[in-house]
Amino acid sequence: MRNSKPTFSFSFAYLITIIAIIFFAISKFGILAIILVILSYLLIKFEHPKSTSRIMADDAILIDMPLSGGEGKSVVVVGGGISGLSAAKFLIQAGCDVTLLERNPIVGGNNTPYLENGEHHATTVIVTLPAQQPHYLQLCREYGIEQTPHDFEDLKGAIVFENRELNTKMGSGVGGFLRFVYREATLKELIDGFIIFWRLYRQFRIRPESPKSVAEVLGDRLVNSSVFTHFYMPWVGINTWCRFDDLDRQPAHVFASFIFEYALTFDIRDKSAKYKEDHWCVLDGRLIHKMRDQLLSNERYEQYLNTNVTGISRTEDGNMSVFSENGESWNCDSVIVATQPIQALPVMGEVAPKRLIDELDKWKQMDCYVILHTDFSDIGNRPWLHQTHENQSTGKYYITNTIRPRMGDLEGKYLITFVYNTENYLDFRANQMDESSIVKLYEPKLPIFSLENSIDRNTVWREIDAQCDDIFWTQACRSGLQYHNNGIVSSKRVVRRVLGLDW
Ligand SMILES: Cc1cc2nc3c(=O)[nH]c(=O)nc-3n(C[C@H](O)[C@H](O)[C@H](O)COP(=O)(O)OP(=O)(O)OC[C@H]3O[C@@H](n4cnc5c(N)ncnc54)[C@H](O)[C@@H]3O)c2cc1C
Repeated sequence: MRNSKPTFSFSFAYLITIIAIIFFAISKFGILAIILVILSYLLIKFEHPKSTSRIMADDAILIDMPLSGGEGKSVVVVGGGISGLSAAKFLIQAGCDVTLLERNPIVGGNNTPYLENGEHHATTVIVTLPAQQPHYLQLCREYGIEQTPHDFEDLKGAIVFENRELNTKMGSGVGGFLRFVYREATLKELIDGFIIFWRLYRQFRIRPESPKSVAEVLGDRLVNSSVFTHFYMPWVGINTWCRFDDLDRQPAHVFASFIFEYALTFDIRDKSAKYKEDHWCVLDGRLIHKMRDQLLSNERYEQYLNTNVTGISRTEDGNMSVFSENGESWNCDSVIVATQPIQALPVMGEVAPKRLIDELDKWKQMDCYVILHTDFSDIGNRPWLHQTHENQSTGKYYITNTIRPRMGDLEGKYLITFVYNTENYLDFRANQMDESSIVKLYEPKLPIFSLENSIDRNTVWREIDAQCDDIFWTQACRSGLQYHNNGIVSSKRVVRRVLGLDW
C-alpha cells in the first residue's frame, strides 16, 4: 500500500531508475535499457483524458458551495446516510428549509458505528485514505475532526494464499509492495501477477473507460489463475464489491481503481494533505455525528427518524408531496432522494424524469454480511486478514476480509468480517468461525457495479441532473468506488442544481 510520505515511493523509484540507467549504460545493452526506462516513464506519465484516473481527478476538485440563494425554498431529503446528511448541510448553508426523513432509528446509513459504553466501534465502514477523499477530508477539517491513523502501517496483515500466507504492512509503498511480492511468490505467480497488474493499470489510466469486464480484460486463463483467485480477489475484489460471480459484469476499470487510486496510489488527490491525513485512517462515524448535531441545532432543519418514505407526488399547485408508511406527508418545493437506487425506484418512479428512472434501473443490489465478533483464532495479532474460501455446499470460491479496527478501543476488542451472499455467510459461520463469538450482525446492502452503469458516469449524471426541476436523486454510487467522497461530491452537485446552478 502507499507510503505514509507520498513522495517517498516516487523518490525511491527515481533512485532505482537512475541506478538502473547507470548500470545498464555501461553494459552492452545500455542503449536498449535506457530506451526501455524512458518508455516506462512516459507510460506512467500518460493519462487518457477519458480514463477513470482522469475522472477521479475531476471528482477530487473542490466545489464552492453557495452561502445564500436558497432562502424561502423548502426541500425534503429522503435518507440520512452520508449523502443525505451532506445534501441537508449544504442546503441549510444556502438558506433553504430542510426536512430529512430516515427510515432507521438513527442517521448514518451504511456507516453505523457500534456504540458500547460510549466507545465507537467501526462496523460496516472502516478505513479511508483521506488524502484520496478530498471532499470527505474538507468536511472533517471543517468540523475539527482529526484523522486517526490505523495501526495497519506498523503491523503486518496477511493474504492467505492457499497453503501460504503473504504478510505485508499496509502503507509500505510501491517499493515495499514489489519487494514483498518478489520475496513470497513463485515465478509463475509473478509473471501472471504482473500481466494482471499491467492489464488493469491500462484500463485505469491509459484507456478510456469502456464496458470491458474484468473477465474480458484478463481472459480465462488469468481469471482462473491461482494468483487472481487467492491474491487479487481477496485484496481487491473485497473492496470493489466484486464476487466471483461478478467477474464478467464488473468493469475492469472499477476493479483497477481500488489498486491505483487507493492501494498503490499514483496521484495524490489532495496535495495539501498533512501528516495523518495521508495515512490509512479509521472511519468511525464521528463525521456523521458532528453533521447531525450541527443540523439539529439549526431552526430551519427538521429530522424524522423511523420514517419510511413510500411515495412522492406532484400537487395541483406544482409543489411536491412526500408520503411515509405511517400516513404522514410533507409538502415542499423540491425533493432530494438520497438512497440506494433500488430503494429510490419505488419511491420516485411516478414523478422523476424517465432518463433518471432508466438509469436507476441499471443498479442491482448485493447482500453483505458484516459480522462483529471476537474469534481471533485465524487473525491472531494481525490487523487484517484477506482470504479466499471454498464453500462446502456449493463448491464455489468466496472472499472474506477480517479486520481489527483501532479506534477509541486501542486493544482491538472486536473484529469485523465481511462476507458477500447468504450461502457464503452461512458457510463461513458454520465452518470458519466460532458462532458463539458473534456480538452483532449487520446486513448492509450495496448497489452492484456493472457494465451498464459504470461508464462515464459524470457525463450521464450531469445530463440527468440538468433534466430535473423539483425531484433529484443522489447516492455514493453515482461516482467512483461509492466511498464517502463519492457520496459527498455527488450531493454537492445535486444541491447546486436544486439552487439553479450548474454542477
Ligand atoms: C461492508 C461495507 C464496507 C464499507 N467500507 C467502506 C470503507 O472502508 N470506506 C468507505 O469510504 N466506504 C465504505 N463503504 C461504503 C460506504 O458505506 C458508503 O459509501 C456510504 O455509506 C454510502 O452512503 P449513502 O448516504 O450514499 O447511502 P446509504 O448509506 O445507503 O444511505 C441511504 C439511507 O437512506 C435510508 N433510506 C433508504 N430508503 C429509505 C426510505 N424509503 N425512506 C427513508 N429512508 C430511506 C437508509 O436507511 C439509509 O440510511 C462500505 C460499505 C459496506 C456495505
